[in-house]
Amino acid sequence: MTNTENVGRVVKVSGPLVVAENMPNAKMYDVVRVSEERLIGEIIEVRGDRVSIQVYEETGGLGPGAPVYSTGMPLSVELGPGLVEAIFDGIQRPLDEVYKRVGARIARGVEVPALNREKKWDFVPVVSAGQEVTAGDVLGTVQETTLVTHKIMVPYGVEGKVTFIHKGAATVEDVVAKIEKDGQTVEVTMMQKWPVRRGRPYREKLSPNEPLITGQRVIDMFFPVAKGGTAAIPGPFGSGKTVTQHQLAKWADAEIIVYVGCGERGNEMTDVLNEFPELLDPKSGEPLMKRTVLIANTSDMPVAAREASIYTGITIAEYFRDMGYSVALMADSTSRWAEALREISGRLEEMPGEEGYPAYLGSRLAEFYERAGKVTCLGSDERIGALTVVGAVSPQGGDISEPVSQNTLRIVKVFWGLDSALAYRRHFPAINWLQSYSLYTDNFDDFYRERIGSEWAQMRTEAMRILQEEADLEEIVRLVGQDALSKRERLTLETARSIREDFLHQNSFHEVDTYASLEKQYKMMKLIMLFHQEALRAIDRGADLQEILELGVREQIARARYIVEEDLAQFEKIEAAIREQIAEVIGDDSEAQFA
Ligand code: ADP
Repeated sequence: MTNTENVGRVVKVSGPLVVAENMPNAKMYDVVRVSEERLIGEIIEVRGDRVSIQVYEETGGLGPGAPVYSTGMPLSVELGPGLVEAIFDGIQRPLDEVYKRVGARIARGVEVPALNREKKWDFVPVVSAGQEVTAGDVLGTVQETTLVTHKIMVPYGVEGKVTFIHKGAATVEDVVAKIEKDGQTVEVTMMQKWPVRRGRPYREKLSPNEPLITGQRVIDMFFPVAKGGTAAIPGPFGSGKTVTQHQLAKWADAEIIVYVGCGERGNEMTDVLNEFPELLDPKSGEPLMKRTVLIANTSDMPVAAREASIYTGITIAEYFRDMGYSVALMADSTSRWAEALREISGRLEEMPGEEGYPAYLGSRLAEFYERAGKVTCLGSDERIGALTVVGAVSPQGGDISEPVSQNTLRIVKVFWGLDSALAYRRHFPAINWLQSYSLYTDNFDDFYRERIGSEWAQMRTEAMRILQEEADLEEIVRLVGQDALSKRERLTLETARSIREDFLHQNSFHEVDTYASLEKQYKMMKLIMLFHQEALRAIDRGADLQEILELGVREQIARARYIVEEDLAQFEKIEAAIREQIAEVIGDDSEAQFA
């Protein structure tokens, strides 16, 4: 692909940024190979025949005069069987066992194909010769892992009549179908390529009106994210970001997980590489990797590779969405990506924006999150796919007033505010209920009403109100002491505590508590709310608050989290017990009054 006309010359090297001249045909985002070592880079600025290149590999030792070869192609990923279970670097080179164990780097300039060329997959056709097909139609399937059926689709831009369809073993480069139109035949392989900076096409974007159910009560009931929605989670150290991400990966109703580890500090990425492969998929008992794609950039990789990893990840995620799957992409951390943008922008001597970040930081983040969505996929079967994006941000000192957090919050619809103070008190998940928000809740009211129960939205609002009131009352208590509170107010504090401890608190490491279905969440909240209402009624009838708070049923409410999903009928019994025990209190009191 390289020829002498296209050979440019390096004139300047500044860290990951290389300036080259004599490249008259260069286009933005073309991939180039720099020096005889053939380091991989991408053109990010074109001025006449002078270009700026961000290089995805170490540029040490590189100097002026080195040749630059243009490939004339944009940075692309390979899409096909072999993605799942793989661990790639930012430019989709598979990280081998050696890398994982000793942290050795892939030698520079090495071109390792992303997808294994030798491996044979069992292609099961679902169309037959003679059939008319269009882009996105499924031609056949491959059982990629025990958990993922990989759909081989007609590539974008191709349509016509199937003149040949393969059956059985094939490599990703073997022709599995031939499609003819107007005398022209396209040979389709199981592998397609796609430029990472371009979102993959779909037929129609749908409104994200269905929650991504995670089994995590604080998320599902209070701050739900849509299937195809966007969320941000900040990650102060030790606040439970990793556990939260693992819980999402394990339990969210997504068939495919794409995890992009984007140059976290120190050895954190190595932790991910060690930990993720250990996780089990709770539904099947199989390793979670059997439905996961990992993209890993450690902080010792050049900053530019972080940018590539974000795009590589989201393109792979879109590809599985196109098969009609629910896909969850987690990017950790987008702050490291933004820092890479800042560094490159500085070296390009662009006009800096806030805190030195480039002025286009906001639009870059927006373009990334906009690739999330619930869509009708290409193809005639109108299948629906969803890509949910969860981006971690790691602001310095946890201060979210900085530009990356602020730009992210402007874009995403959900914010799960992890709070180190809560983590310190061992309240997990440490998602702060007063600071977090979800702009989707109203979209889901119908869903909850129809599927779960009529009072879902109302209970949530009431629970939030009580927690808010708790915060206000605590202020009063701080100033003038507990005695200033009325009975009703003291009950509010008790109910708030119950919401926090019996509902929001959820132990990821407890066999039963780790996941709660929406039904169970609804029933749990209902117990707390019922007790509150009944207690209020009793207080209004003159009952003693202490007596109410000492009722045995409260212990049952606290232990309701351990009721297994098969035994949800238990909840009716506890409800009955609440009514009974409160009635007794009221009864006693009224007798007392008569006496
Ligand atoms: P971070 O990644 O933010 O540094 P981790 O996710 O590793 O923090 O969490 C730190 C510790 O907090 C964990 O080792 C665990 O003991 C505890 N923890 C976090 N979340 C939960 C949870 N949902 N349930 C129980 N323990 C938790």
